[in-house]
Amino acid sequence: MENIRCLIIGGGPAGYTAAIYASRAGLNPVLYEGMEPGGQLTTTTIVENFPGFPEGVDANQLMTDMRAQAARFGADIRRGTVTAVDFSSRPFKLTIDSETVIEAQAVIIATGATARYLGLPSEQEFRGMCVSACATCDGFFYRRKDVAVVGGGDTACEEATYLANLCNKVYMIVRRDVFRASQAMQEKVRNTPNIEVLWNCNTREVLGDASGVTGARLERKDGKVFDISIDGFFLAIGHHPNSDVFKEFIQTDENGYIVTSGKSCMTNVEGVFAAGDVQDPSFRQAITAAASGCKAALEVEKFLLSH
Ligand code: NDP
Repeated sequence: MENIRCLIIGGGPAGYTAAIYASRAGLNPVLYEGMEPGGQLTTTTIVENFPGFPEGVDANQLMTDMRAQAARFGADIRRGTVTAVDFSSRPFKLTIDSETVIEAQAVIIATGATARYLGLPSEQEFRGMCVSACATCDGFFYRRKDVAVVGGGDTACEEATYLANLCNKVYMIVRRDVFRASQAMQEKVRNTPNIEVLWNCNTREVLGDASGVTGARLERKDGKVFDISIDGFFLAIGHHPNSDVFKEFIQTDENGYIVTSGKSCMTNVEGVFAAGDVQDPSFRQAITAAASGCKAALEVEKFLLSH
C-alpha cells in the first residue's frame, strides 16, 4: 500500500499553497484535487483583491499558476476524490475514488465549500438547465435575456453586476429588506440601472417547460404572490463546507465547518490539519485560504519532525 508522508486533499488556494510549502520543506506531498481543480475561485472571473496584482488577475490563471508553482517544487498533484477515511490510528487510511486505499502520516484537509441551493423540487428539475450557482460559468448563455439572482450577500451582488453586463435585466431576489453584502458591493448594485432588487421576497417555485426556465413564482413578506418572467435562475445563497466524509472522526461545528484549535490548523485528530474554507465560516477569501494552507504545511512539518 502506498504510504505518503504528507497528503493534501483539495485543489484550491489552501491546498496548492500547502503543497508549495510542503514540497519546499522536502515533505514530498501528494495532493488530490477532487472534482473541482482550482476550487471555487475558478467560478469567478477577475480577482481584484489578491495582493500583488495591481490590475487584478484572471482567477483561472491564478489557480493554474499556484498549481504550477507547487508542481515546480515537486508536489505530486493527482486527479481523484477522497471517498472514505479511517483516522482512528496512524498511519491514516484514505480511499481514493472508492477503490484505492492509501496511507498517510499526516493529512491536510483543504476541501473547501460548495454552493447551496434552496431545495425546491422545481429548482432540482431545472438544475443544469437554466438553474445555476455560478454566474461567471453560465452567464454567457443569457446574453440579452432576463435573469434572477437569489441572495443578498457579496456573492449575489457580484454575480448580479456581472450578469447585468451581459443580460437585458437582472432581478435580485432578497429575502430581507437589507443586503448582507459589504457597502462597496451594495453601491455597485445601486449604480447598475438594469438590476431590480425585489426586497422581502422568497422563491416559491421555479417555472419552466421543456425548453427550460421561463419564470419564477415569488412570495413577498406581506403575502403577495407574483411571477417574474426570466430565462435563467442563479443561486448565490452561501456555501456548504465539504467536510462530510471526515465527520466520523473530525469535529465540526453546527454548520459543518471543521473545528481547528485556536490559531492553529490542528483538528481534534493529531496529525490531521484543516485549511481554507472547509474550516473558515467567516472570511472565506482566496488570500485567507492560502494563508491557512501555509500554516497547515508548516504545522505538518513540525508534526512529522516530532513523530
Ligand atoms: P453570505 O452568507 O454572506 O450571504 C448569503 C446571502 O444569501 C444572504 O443575503 C442570505 O440572506 C441569503 N440566503 C441564505 N439562505 C437563503 C435562502 N434559503 N433563501 C434566500 N436567501 C438566502 O454568502 P456569500 O456567498 O455572499 O458570501 C460568503 C463570504 O464570502 C462572505 O464573507 C463574503 O463577504 C465573501 N465574499 C467576498 C467577495 C469579495 O470580497 N470580492 C465576493 C464574494 C463573497 P440573509 O442575509 O437574510 O441571511
